[in-house]
Amino acid sequence: MRLDDLFRRQARTLSFEFFPPKNDRTWYTLEDAIDQLAPLGADFVSVTYGAGGSTRAKTREVVEHIHAKTGVSAMAHLTCVNATRGELQTLLDEYAGAGIENLLALRGDPPKGQERFTPTDGGCAHAVDLIDLIRDRGGFASLCAAFPERHPDAASREADWAHLAQKLRRGASGAITQCFFDPNAYVEMLAHLTRLTGSHPRIIPGILPITDYHALVRFCERCGASVPQSVHAALAPLADDKVAVRKAGMAWTVAFCRELLEAGAPGLHIYALNRSTAAAEIVTALRLSGHLD
Ligand SMILES: Cc1cc2nc3c(=O)[nH]c(=O)nc-3n(C[C@H](O)[C@H](O)[C@H](O)COP(=O)(O)OP(=O)(O)OC[C@H]3O[C@@H](n4cnc5c(N)ncnc54)[C@H](O)[C@@H]3O)c2cc1C
Repeated sequence: MRLDDLFRRQARTLSFEFFPPKNDRTWYTLEDAIDQLAPLGADFVSVTYGAGGSTRAKTREVVEHIHAKTGVSAMAHLTCVNATRGELQTLLDEYAGAGIENLLALRGDPPKGQERFTPTDGGCAHAVDLIDLIRDRGGFASLCAAFPERHPDAASREADWAHLAQKLRRGASGAITQCFFDPNAYVEMLAHLTRLTGSHPRIIPGILPITDYHALVRFCERCGASVPQSVHAALAPLADDKVAVRKAGMAWTVAFCRELLEAGAPGLHIYALNRSTAAAEIVTALRLSGHLD
C-alpha cells in the first residue's frame, strides 16, 4: 500500500528499518529478524541505501523480498549521491517496474573522504529536488528525513526546519526523524512545523533501542545525534555490564517512546538494525501499557 494512503487511513503507524545484508551470513540474520518481527504486525518497513548508492541493487532486492514474503508495505531509501537526474529518473522507472511504491527521498551524506556534500554534475543538490523528481514522475509516495536537533550542516534548528517544511510542501507525505534522545526536541520541532505548514505534519520519531552504551555513543558520534547527560549518567556506570546496561537502556527507551506517543507522535519507526529482540520488546511493552494498538 502507498504510505500516503496508509497515513490517510491510520492516525498511528509502527514501522521497522532494515539495511541490506553484505553476505550470506548476514542475509540469514536479516531473514531471522523479518520472521520474528512479522507477527508484530508492522504497518510498513524501510530499507536503507548504502552511502554513495553502494547498495542500490541490494536495497531493491531486500524491499521486494520483504514485501513478497510478508505482504507488509515496504519503502526503499534513495539518495542523490553519485547520480545525475537522468540516472535517478531511470532508477525511479526501475522501482516502478518492480512494484515499489514508497520512497524515502534523501540527499545522502558525503561519500567517504569528502567533508562536505557536493552535488553530482547534473544531479540534485538537496532532498527536495529528488522529491520534485518523484512527484513529477508520479506513481510513488515519498517521505523525507527530519532532524529534531537540526541537521549538522544547518545554521540553526529553525533554518533546518524551514527546509523540512519545504520538503513536506513539495510532496513528501511525511518524515522520519534521525535518532534522538530528548523528547523536548521532538515536541518543539512538531510545534514549529505545525506553525510553518499550517497543518499537523506526519513526523514519525526514529527510535534507536539502547542495548549497549559504547555502541550508542559510537553510533551517535557517527550520525551527529547527541546523547543527553541524563542518559550518560544512567548508563555510563553500567557500561561494561552487558546485562545491566541492556536492562536499563531498554527501560529508558520504552519510557522515551511512551513520552513521545503521549506528546502526539503519529507512531514510531524503530531502527531494528536487522535484529528483532529489542524492537519486539519495545512493541510488546508499549502494547501492554496501551500506548500502541
Ligand atoms: C530516517 C533517515 C534515514 C536515512 N537513511 C539513509 C540511507 O538509507 N542512506 C544514506 O546514505 N543516508 C541516509 N540518511 C542520512 C541522510 O542522507 C543524511 O543525514 C544527509 O546528510 C541529509 O539528508 P536529507 O535528506 O535530510 O537532506 P536535505 O533535506 O537536502 O538537507 C541537507 C542539508 O541541507 C539543508 N537544505 C535542505 N534543503 C535546502 C534548500 N532548498 N536550500 C538550502 N539548504 C537546504 C538542510 O537544512 C540540511 O542542513 C538517513 C537519515 C534519516 C533521518
